[in-house]
Order: sequence, then C-alpha cells, then structure tokens
Amino acid sequence: MNIVRTEGVVLRYTNFKEADRMLTVFSPDRGKMQVLSRGCRKPSSRLLAASQIFCYADYVFIKSKEIYIATQAEVKNSFYNIRNDVERLAYGTYILNLTEEAVNYEEGNFRLFYILLHTLSYLAYGEVSPEDITHIFELKLIDVLGYRPVLDRCVVCGDKPESNPLFFSASQGGIICPQCNNDIKDGYTIHRSTLQTMRYILDVDIRRLGGLKFSQLVRDELDSILSYYLSHRLEKTIKARQFINQLKCGG
Ligand SMILES: [Zn+2]
Repeated sequence: MNIVRTEGVVLRYTNFKEADRMLTVFSPDRGKMQVLSRGCRKPSSRLLAASQIFCYADYVFIKSKEIYIATQAEVKNSFYNIRNDVERLAYGTYILNLTEEAVNYEEGNFRLFYILLHTLSYLAYGEVSPEDITHIFELKLIDVLGYRPVLDRCVVCGDKPESNPLFFSASQGGIICPQCNNDIKDGYTIHRSTLQTMRYILDVDIRRLGGLKFSQLVRDELDSILSYYLSHRLEKTIKARQFINQLKCGG
C-alpha cells in the first residue's frame, strides 16, 4: 500500500453518491491532489470536518492509481468563521479558486501554502476587511507566479517619471509613463500612494501585513489593477470574482 501523509487545505469539493465527496486538496509538498473522501457526509464520519472547504488538516491518504483515498484526518484549523459570513465566504472562495489555478498536480509550493494559510487566518480572525486581505493575497500570488510587476520606473522607456498619477499596464507588466501610455493605451490610472502600498506588500512578510490599512483610493485602484493583471496573466477570469462584484453592487 502506498501511504501518503501530508498537511493540506481543501480548495473545493464535489458531492457524489449517498455520502461521498471528491476533494481538491492543496498540499505544500505535493501541490494539487484529487482525494476521495468516502462516507464523509454521514454525521458520524471521522472525515466530516476535514472534508469542508477552507479546512486545514493533517491527512493520511492511500494512493490508488490517479487519486488518493482519505483514511484519516486531524483538523488543525477549520477556519469556520469564513464559512458563516457571506462576505468572507465570497472573498474566501475567490482566494481558493485563484490558488487552484496557480498550483499544479504533484508539484509542491511551500511559499504559496504559507501565504494561503496566513490569508485564511486574517480572513477568519483578523481586523482587516476581507477585500483588503484579498488584495494582499492577489499581489503575493502574482509574485509567487513570477509576475512581480515593475513599479520603480516606466517598464517601456525606463524613465522614472515625476508625474502623479501614472499608469499600470498589464500587457507590459508594470507602470508606464504618460508618454508611453499614449502609444500603448491600455494603462490603468495608478497613484503613487497605491504604488507605495504595492511595494510594501511585496517586500514585507505576510505575517506582518495583518494591520495594514488602505485608503479608499488605494483600495479602488488595487481592486481594478490586481484583478485585471491576474486575469491577463492567468488568461481567464475567476467566476467567484464576478460574484464579489455582484455583492458589492447589491450592498
Ligand atoms: Zn515611458
């Protein structure tokens, strides 16, 4: 028998049969894993708590062909507070969906796992708004994926423009000066305060970002720039993101 012990976070599940569930688990040393959690929807199941989204647990799996079968699980943190609040749940689901896009099967990613755990912890227990935490996560994710944007000079001509605001171009991967934006024309307005915030988030460990406060201008600019840049890089938009936009419009 091929026994695998790993910690992981449940990113997604699909119910099937009477009481089974197929989980997508993110393990720091094995990346994305498809895990069969048999009978986990029975109230008496030992796997019930560890088969919910957001759950962070120590798992024991048996490898069977392409999938893993859960045999034991010990919950380390269920992040239950995320699931009982509609706003936190919406942002949290978006964060899990982004993670799912970013990790591969059988390819560990310790750095992203570390960022995800801290993000979920802030989302469940922190003082920072779910929206701001999500922007921190988006930017950290962009960095982990290798798309750290150029923020200290125009990415096209290399100038260090004095003007404020500047422009952010997803196609160029960083800020561009007003002159270059006249040619490229895809830049989003970005003020210096937003640039400084982005640099700070990129340079500082996520453990120390829990008390970060954004002005409304910075929040609005991060909101449009980061999702625009991510969808450009991932070459898709994340469905859960549209739900967040609906939530915002509704309230
Ligand atoms: Zn330029």
